[in-house]
Amino acid sequence: MSQSSSDKTILHVDANNFYASCECAKDPALRGKPMAVCGDPTRRKGIILAKSYEAKRYDIKTGDTVYQALSKCPNLILVQPDFALYGRYSRALFDLYTQYTDRVECFGMDECWLDVTGSSRLFGSGEEIANQIRSRVKQGLGLTVSVGVSFTKVLAKLGSDYKKPDATTVFSRDNFRDIVWGLPVSDMIMVGRRTAQTLRALGVLTIGDLARMPQEVLRRKLGVNGIKLWNAANGIEDEEVLRYVDHVIPESISNGTTTPIDITKEEEILSLITVLADNVATRLRGYGLRALNVYVSAKTREFLPFGGSMRLDSPIGSATEIISSCMEMILALWQEHHRAPLRSITVGVGHLMGANESVQLNLFDETDHQKTTNADLSVDNIRARFGKDIIQRGAACVNTFTSEEIIDEADFRPFKKN
Ligand SMILES: [Mg+2]
Repeated sequence: MSQSSSDKTILHVDANNFYASCECAKDPALRGKPMAVCGDPTRRKGIILAKSYEAKRYDIKTGDTVYQALSKCPNLILVQPDFALYGRYSRALFDLYTQYTDRVECFGMDECWLDVTGSSRLFGSGEEIANQIRSRVKQGLGLTVSVGVSFTKVLAKLGSDYKKPDATTVFSRDNFRDIVWGLPVSDMIMVGRRTAQTLRALGVLTIGDLARMPQEVLRRKLGVNGIKLWNAANGIEDEEVLRYVDHVIPESISNGTTTPIDITKEEEILSLITVLADNVATRLRGYGLRALNVYVSAKTREFLPFGGSMRLDSPIGSATEIISSCMEMILALWQEHHRAPLRSITVGVGHLMGANESVQLNLFDETDHQKTTNADLSVDNIRARFGKDIIQRGAACVNTFTSEEIIDEADFRPFKKN
């Protein structure tokens, strides 16, 4: 069976050893050496988040403790994560990908699908585009990517995994059965550990076993999902690659409000910030994101603006954490402004990262991020003080520009958290 004329051309592009590669691109002295990115290396409990290929040769694994990693490779170079750096590289990658098509669907910071069906007139075949992307990423950014080219998202993803680093793999209608059907079924993106167990009990070990299974059996054991899996294994899919602008992660989320009367007390600042931060945290959760940067700004009765931003050691998601950072900053700044009566406050978070990265980050994050807020109490306080609808008046906004740009608007000074 040959390429059907209605087939899509889909690429899955995956940056190799992303965190570690960003560090090596920034500091060429690290290249070619066993190195790893980890939580605080001075604490033996720090955990390996990413490692170079040289470190992989020593059997160092993501999730190893620093202690384990060093006992496998005493010369291992340890680097602390620099998420702002990874964010910059990630944006540079997506800037490049979106030059080929507007259909660029992010899957974490360093992976995405591209639908280049309509791009071949300008840029060549899927394979040619994949090779162009690989060489441009390598020359321009000093990173390598693996690319899978196929006619479905599932197969394209299998392709980027198949050969790495810095490789292009094409799964066509002609060859996918020969190669893909021999792969373990757990390599497929939709197959988690539990599904793999269920399939194993049915004697399904490879993607080919799955493709040849009677659909009825799969439906009985796995419901609608069983049919989806069967379709995926057989190269049948009607999934769209999302348009970049429709789902791209906002760079910052903020919430601000102007009060009808002056704010003159510390408790009033706390109440207002609590309400604003709670809104920001809720939206942050809605996006499945966490933030590495918190900022706060205020205006005095005379409309004099001031503000500050804080870079955090690990990403946060809860209102409590946003509140405490904002309070620390605003109280210091307010003091400098002689506790002048305030008329407006804005709370925001930036350097946002997706759920994928956050899950990894949780590994080394030893602080408790699941603290509950006492927002409800404060909401009542603030309503009592400023009126019932003050909460709704808060102007919520999602920004697609960087927090640095917003920070420029006011007299911001960075706070360094130690
Ligand atoms: Mg990757």
